[in-house]
Amino acid sequence: TATTEKREFQTEVKQLLHLMVHSLYSNKEIFLRELISNASDAADKLAFAALEDDSLYENDGDLRIRIDFDEKKKTLTVTDNGIGMTHDEVVSNLGTIARSGTAEFLQQLSGDRQKDSRLIGQFGVGFYSAFIVADKVEVRTRKAGMAPAEGVFWSSEGSGEFEVGQVEKAERGTEVKLFLKKEEKEFLDEWRLRNLVSKYSDHISVPVMMEVRDYEAEAAEKGDDEDKKKVEPKYKLEKINTATALWTRDKSEITEEEYQSFYKHISHDFNEALTWSHNRVEGKLNYTSLLYVPSKAPFDLWNRDAQRGLKLYVQRVFIMDDAEQFLPLYLRFMKGVIDSNDLSLNVSREILQNDKTVSSLKTALTKRTLDMLEKMAKKKPEQYQQFWDEFGQVLKEGPAEDFANREKIAGLLRFASTHTADETQNVALKGYVERMKEGQKAIYYVAADSHNAALGSPHLEVFRKKGIEVLLLSDRVDEWLMGHLNEFEDKPFQDIAKGELDLGDLEDEEEKKKHEETDKAFESLTAQIAKELEDDVKDVRTTHRLTDSPACLVVGEHDMGAQMQRLLEAAGQ
Ligand code: ADP
Ligand code: MG
Repeated sequence: TATTEKREFQTEVKQLLHLMVHSLYSNKEIFLRELISNASDAADKLAFAALEDDSLYENDGDLRIRIDFDEKKKTLTVTDNGIGMTHDEVVSNLGTIARSGTAEFLQQLSGDRQKDSRLIGQFGVGFYSAFIVADKVEVRTRKAGMAPAEGVFWSSEGSGEFEVGQVEKAERGTEVKLFLKKEEKEFLDEWRLRNLVSKYSDHISVPVMMEVRDYEAEAAEKGDDEDKKKVEPKYKLEKINTATALWTRDKSEITEEEYQSFYKHISHDFNEALTWSHNRVEGKLNYTSLLYVPSKAPFDLWNRDAQRGLKLYVQRVFIMDDAEQFLPLYLRFMKGVIDSNDLSLNVSREILQNDKTVSSLKTALTKRTLDMLEKMAKKKPEQYQQFWDEFGQVLKEGPAEDFANREKIAGLLRFASTHTADETQNVALKGYVERMKEGQKAIYYVAADSHNAALGSPHLEVFRKKGIEVLLLSDRVDEWLMGHLNEFEDKPFQDIAKGELDLGDLEDEEEKKKHEETDKAFESLTAQIAKELEDDVKDVRTTHRLTDSPACLVVGEHDMGAQMQRLLEAAGQ
């Protein structure tokens, strides 16, 4: 049309397109999942907008998705009658990437196909994945509520630019047409497409329709007439997915594969979930939740602005993605769906922030998540270890954020310790307590910048000699964690580098007497050293902590830990 203009893709899109086509080739079939998922989102968004303005349905409230293919033209088309897009929305949605952390994500891409494909998968490939299999993509779309003349046409070959213009479009919604590459003919096949839909998109609540061969009708036409060898192929429009939202179905009827494919649908993760918990609750609160523990940390786990949270539905109507109000920050890695019957359909993010029902739901979902982790730790320790290696550092933020669940979280923590000296954090506090020596009252730990530094700490010498286990802490959050943990099963935590070390009942009488004698004998020497070092240290004492090293530094009982001091120094404090 006359108004068509050429535009450049944003630089990030160019980079992503290039890398995606190269590294996702072995996963190419996911493009269909992405396009169907967008179509389903568009249907959800229309249903949500129509809650306020029924006229948006334009007398067609029957939301659906349709797949068509043309073997001769080698095209595959995904059509929806969802919300559609305006001209400006097309330009920004199909020409830029607006997600925070995009630059960081692109930086992490290494050129290693396998690693990159995992990262790209986590980032969410979305619409652009169409270019893995197509050398040209055309979009025709019209926003619900706008005039047919306000349709938008978009077209690109996926290299550096796209065209955008106006088009007449009678039906609201979006049509995405792929001109498949020569070598991608496999997608022009009814059974291939049926399989893909049932593999990736079976559980979305919108029906996916396709024209399929109608063998019955062909047979009927042929009848008993043996001579009538050739009958023209006949087709019928058929629903090729189950079209019931997965979480609304009965647990006992859902297979593991279905749970996993639903997980991939909502998380965009290429990897399977580690475990999940699906619950329908009736009573004071009425809701259904389906919570997943991922198996891999996302690339932006440490990005403060990263998207997190659950998909929120109210009475089966989609309300929003990334509702963060239903889980605490230290469980931000969780994925899932919450479908509430108690919230109002016109709930907004602002309302969620101080809603009583939401905070009750948060308490319930937090407990559910911690229970799920507890169960995994007990029944599948290897799986739990895998979880811990990915997300343990985040869970360590828990005791500071969630006072009420401190004990429960403490039970889930894992540490490195002198028990194995291994760097892997695989010692539970429960195990530590069971191994405590007779007369031992505290749980001992040492914190340092690295595992090796902790392991080499001179403070450990006396503990080694006596065979007492010490936790070896070297994560940045560890001292922060210890500041909020205080005790486990009534055993206080004790930093062995802090203050006067009182081993209490662990020292026998004879040792104590010997120590007192040495203290006396060295009194004048320590006083002299203290005077020399007056400007640098608070005090000089003889010590019984060391067996090999001549001297060590300790911090005062109530002073900040050494690791914390370094952290603050690094932050310029
Ligand atoms: P995501 O779905 O994660 O947002 P995509 O790359 O898949 O990312 O899509 C980008 C955006 O383009 C979507 O957020 C949506 O706004 C828009 N979009 C894509 N497909 C459709 C569609 N079929 N109907 C309406 N909007 C769409
Ligand atoms: Mg998408």
